[in-house]
Amino acid sequence: MTTSPSPSPSPFPAARTSVPRRRAVLTLTAAAVAAGVPTARAAAARSTRTRTGKPPAAARALAELRAGNARFAALRQIHPHEDATRRAAVAVSQHPFALTLGCVDSRVPPELVFDQGLGDLLAIRSAGQALDEAVLGSIQFGVAELGVPLVVVLGHERCGAVTAAVEYVCTGKPAEGHLARIVEEIAPAAREARGLPGDWVENTVRANVDRIRRRLARDEAFDEALVVGARFDLDTGKVAFHPS
Ligand SMILES: [Zn+2]
Repeated sequence: MTTSPSPSPSPFPAARTSVPRRRAVLTLTAAAVAAGVPTARAAAARSTRTRTGKPPAAARALAELRAGNARFAALRQIHPHEDATRRAAVAVSQHPFALTLGCVDSRVPPELVFDQGLGDLLAIRSAGQALDEAVLGSIQFGVAELGVPLVVVLGHERCGAVTAAVEYVCTGKPAEGHLARIVEEIAPAAREARGLPGDWVENTVRANVDRIRRRLARDEAFDEALVVGARFDLDTGKVAFHPS
């Protein structure tokens, strides 16, 4: 009896053994083959999918999020994937179809805002979506290990962390304790939005999302995913995606 070489160690062995890496690539390739697309053409599509258009899996994920948010905004939620069958299914493996990087704000829980259930979303949250190595590593876990094809940077109206960053840029007085690190992370967006027409905080919310989206989109660790920005409106319950 022969033994095969041991796989290289993974920081997430359970995830790697239950879910194939690069699922987005495999999905795209399978779809291309099923559609009769020549292999070379499929390879070309695979290598440029994040630059020339949405990969099929990401497009489907985005459509599902749009549909779920439309239900939430209209107060017609179906609260999917919360029954015993789903609970049993996700107990042994997970296949979230989208990753959200949102704020910790209690009014913006991704599963509710997008009307999703157990195992649907890999939801990462930090105040003002502030990035640090823990957040970036969590995103990489979702994209590289679980094969999540879509990353949504979800900002929101009247964000307290963003307001604190605007106040910091305005007064020069650092926030206290651990909050200072978060405010420093958002401050460049506040400086970028300073002087623009309209509300400074609102403009910073949008600038912050866009800065994070661009930061993630150019990081090769997330090459396998489509990265989009989004803003949640607290008044209407609607999410607007950027680019739409
Ligand atoms: Zn917030």
